[in-house]
Order: sequence, then C-alpha cells, then structure tokens
Amino acid sequence: MFDVAIVGFGPTGAVAAGLLGLQGIRTWVCDELTDVYDKPRAIALDHEIMRVFQQLGLADALEPFTEPFTNSEFYGVDGQLIKCMSTVAPPYPLTFTPSLVFTQPAMEAVLRERVSRMPSVECHLGTKVTAVQQSHEAVTLTVADAQGQTRQISARYLIGCDGASSFVRKQVGIELEDLGFDEPWLVVDVRVNDKGLAKLPKVSVQYCEPQRPCTYVIGPKNHRRWEIALNPGEDPKAMATPEATWQLLSRWLKPDEATLWRQASYQFHALVAKEWRRQRVFLAGDAAHQQPPFLGQGMCQGIRDAANLSWKLAAVLQSRASPRLLDTYGAERKGHVTELTSRIKSIGQLVGQRDVEKARARDARLLAECGGQVQPMPRQNVQPALVGGCLNGAGHAAEGTLFPQAWIERPTGPMRMDEALGCGWRLFLHTPADETWTHAAAFAHAGLQLTVQHLNAPGFTESSGVLSAWFDRMACQAALVRPDHYVYGAFATPQDLQRTLEALRP
Ligand SMILES: Cc1cc2nc3c(=O)[nH]c(=O)nc-3n(C[C@H](O)[C@H](O)[C@H](O)COP(=O)(O)OP(=O)(O)OC[C@H]3O[C@@H](n4cnc5c(N)ncnc54)[C@H](O)[C@@H]3O)c2cc1C
Repeated sequence: MFDVAIVGFGPTGAVAAGLLGLQGIRTWVCDELTDVYDKPRAIALDHEIMRVFQQLGLADALEPFTEPFTNSEFYGVDGQLIKCMSTVAPPYPLTFTPSLVFTQPAMEAVLRERVSRMPSVECHLGTKVTAVQQSHEAVTLTVADAQGQTRQISARYLIGCDGASSFVRKQVGIELEDLGFDEPWLVVDVRVNDKGLAKLPKVSVQYCEPQRPCTYVIGPKNHRRWEIALNPGEDPKAMATPEATWQLLSRWLKPDEATLWRQASYQFHALVAKEWRRQRVFLAGDAAHQQPPFLGQGMCQGIRDAANLSWKLAAVLQSRASPRLLDTYGAERKGHVTELTSRIKSIGQLVGQRDVEKARARDARLLAECGGQVQPMPRQNVQPALVGGCLNGAGHAAEGTLFPQAWIERPTGPMRMDEALGCGWRLFLHTPADETWTHAAAFAHAGLQLTVQHLNAPGFTESSGVLSAWFDRMACQAALVRPDHYVYGAFATPQDLQRTLEALRP
C-alpha cells in the first residue's frame, strides 16, 4: 500500500510527487503519456513557483529556461497607453525575479527527471487509470499499461492531477462551478528570426482593441506568443490553419521572419471544482480549476495547490497533525483560486471590451485614475491572500500572505534563506533581545518541528533588508510561517504568540 497515489505527471502532479518524495512519503505517480507534452502552454510564472522549484533543488537547473517577464503595456482604442503591468523592483522579496517567462516542455522534463530519482517515489509512464474506488481505509486504482494489461494499486490518499478533463474528478462525482468566462481565442507560438525580432515590440503588449483584442508576450530567447480573440462567426478550426494564422500575424510579421511553433484555438474558461476533496481523494491543478491565461496563472495555481496539500498530507501521514488539517486544503485553495480568477477575468474583460463606446470610456477612466500618467503596477499585486483554513484567524494583515525569502550572507557567499533554514514551520523573531519571546516560542508542540530564527542572530545577516522591511511594514515582531511559506500568524507581543502556539497543540 502506498501513502499517496497521484494521477497525472504534468506540472501539478510532478511537483506534488516531488514535495511528498522530499519528505520520504511513499508515493506512486502515473501518466497515460510517456513523454512531456512537447508544446508550450504556460509561458509565464511567478517567483513563488521558483521558490517551490528551489525546494526541489531545481532553481539552478531551471534558470536557463527562464527570462525576466518584460512589462505588459496596455494600448486603448486610439493606440494610447492606458495601463502597464510590471515587476516588483529589487530587492526582490523572494530572491527570484518576481515575474518570469519560461519554456514549459524543458521545465517539465527537468521536473520529471528530478522526481524519478527520488527513492520513495515510483513513476509509471504509459499507465492509464481506468477506475477509482475508495473505502474508509484506502483508495484503489485500476490501471492499464500500454499493452492493455490491468492491475490494481492501493494508497491511503489519491490526488487527481489529471488535467482539465479529469477522469478522477468524474469518477468521484465532483462538479465544476462556472465562474462566468467563455470566449474563443487563438494561441500562436512563434520562433522569430533576427529580421523579425528587429520589428517586434520590445515589451509585451495588450492590444485592447474592440475589433480584435490581442495579447503579445515576449517569451524566452526568440519565442513570441500571440493570444488573439476570435470574432463571432469565425470557425476556431479554420482560424488555426497556417494560412489563417499568418493572415492574423501579418500586422507584425511575414512568413520569412519566423516559424510557427504551434497554433491552436482554445475556449478560455473560468471554472472551479465545487469540492476539492471527496473522502480520501483530492483534486489539484487543472483538474480543480481552469482560468483564462491573461495573467499566466493556470500552472502557477496548480503548483500552489501541490505545495499547499503536500505538507499537510505529509504531516498527517507521519502522525504530526490531525487528519482535520486536510480539510483546510480545499477551503484555502478554492477561495484563493476563485478570487484570483475573478481578478484575471477583470483583466480579460478590460482587454476584451468589444463595444467601441465602452472601450473609449474604459480608456478615459483608466487615464483619469492615474492623472493621465500611467504608473506601472507590479503583477504580483494581483495575488490575493489565503483566507480561512489553517491560519491564526486573528485578522492580522500578514496572515495568509507569502513570507519573504532573503539572501543570507555566509562565509562561502550568499545563500537563499530556505536553504539555510529548511522548509518546515519557522518562527521569525524581529524583537529586542528579550527572553519572553523565546519563552513563548517554547510552547510550540513537538509535531510542528519548529525552527526559531532571530533576525539579529549571529550568522543570519541578510544583505538586502527584505526581512526587516517586511516586519516594519507589517508592524509586528514575530511571524509564524508554514511549510509552504505562507504566514500562519503575526504577533506584536509574546503573549499573543504563546496563545497561538498553545491553541495549535493537538
Ligand atoms: C494557451 C494557454 C496558455 C497558458 N499560459 C499559462 C501561463 O502563462 N502560466 C501558467 O501558469 N499557466 C498557463 N496555462 C495553464 C497551464 O498550462 C496549465 O494550468 C497546466 O499545464 C496544468 O497542469 P496540470 O499538471 O494541472 O495538468 P496537465 O498539464 O494537463 O497534466 C495532466 C496530466 O494527466 C494525464 N492524465 C489525464 N488523464 C489520465 C489518466 N486517466 N491516467 C493517467 N494519466 C492521465 C495527462 O496525460 C497529463 O499529462 C496556459 C494554458 C493554456 C491552454
């Protein structure tokens, strides 16, 4: 019997398997395909995701496949700049460039290779799950290999990471909720030669043009992406032929300036699973939600799911936490996905306004809001905090937000904080030397395996000031941080901290 079975070895399944594998959880993961999907779907990712890759020991291996995401400039009806989304300025809050573009197939290959080397993880490619059954004690999967031979696998828990048309979701009877977005778009990936590159915009662009809204993204190296709205009456299949695609790209490029990598029509949706757990079965990634790609968040959301669920499963399986902790997964992730999707939808509706008068009013409103001078807004500002679930519940503004990661100065050179401290429960103290804080910290129960770090401790010098600036901004002196780097609670007094740690005792 395995501890956890995972159906789907896409980015969500691979990260879930990797994070469980790091903790020695006996994990079985399969995918019906034998290779990673060789065309890019996701093109953008956030520093939060690089931090998860770092945890898997992959930050350096993946760096060659990433580049900083350029600003995205939004242009209105008359071609005027109306909005700009940018990147947080240095010093970076998590050490990584906050918004990146990347090459998905290469990234997935690196992830899979890493996971397949983990001693407690079994990876089965070319293996399709054909039935899911569960009892009080376990989940049993019927799986078929490439030759059609079937067998059964049992695990204490199952995570369905099997993509948008999830078989697992259907087997356990979980329905999707429609968050109200449904538009046909053509997505075109192109490799551009030097002649073409010289002509193209030097930043990413949102063409908020009512006659045909369109997104242009500068990907890594010579990879460029267009997402082009299809007009009423256009046949999505006919628009995805090379001839029709080149016709749409003719505003920017000629066929001798680039090669088509792939073009495909999509119906952009906004959907979220009504439930994220049915007894021993959890959903994660596209199996649990789909969102339009305007902010490049689909894969990022799946990896957030995997990071959220894996530490909770490990804690329960290793008897360090009550099984009730597992209920907080769906509560936290569904709320976050629903809120972020609604923000993504607003951006999509802003870009995709088809009524010329309303689009002009939009342009005027946006320009009036910034006094006629467009101010770049960091993409990361769009991220909501976690609400409810496994949080202190004291209403502090830091609760449910991501705790920063600083560079720590070491004799051998700078080291990322998570590497120095590990990724368990951590208590950061930014206090005067006062024993009452250390005394309060001692109330943590053993299952938390809490690491206590004072910001002024010898050997813990942060050069960028990211951590101390965070404490000043949040007006607190201590922060209790979960294994997925979200802030459980922030405290101004040792008594508040002690009360919280006492309440956390099983
Ligand atoms: C046009 C477009 C642009 C996008 N841009 C971005 C972006 O910029 N940034 C971003 O973060 N996201 C983006 N996304 C979303 C992102 O690509 C997806 O959210 C992400 O790939 C989903 O990962 P996943 O692992 O959840 O699912 P998938 O990648 O779909 O993996 C599911 C896996 O499950 C396997 N499987 C299915 N059924 C079974 C079965 N019965 N048995 C065994 N295996 C099975 C499949 O073979 C597959 O490998 C974009 C998506 C699209 C379409």
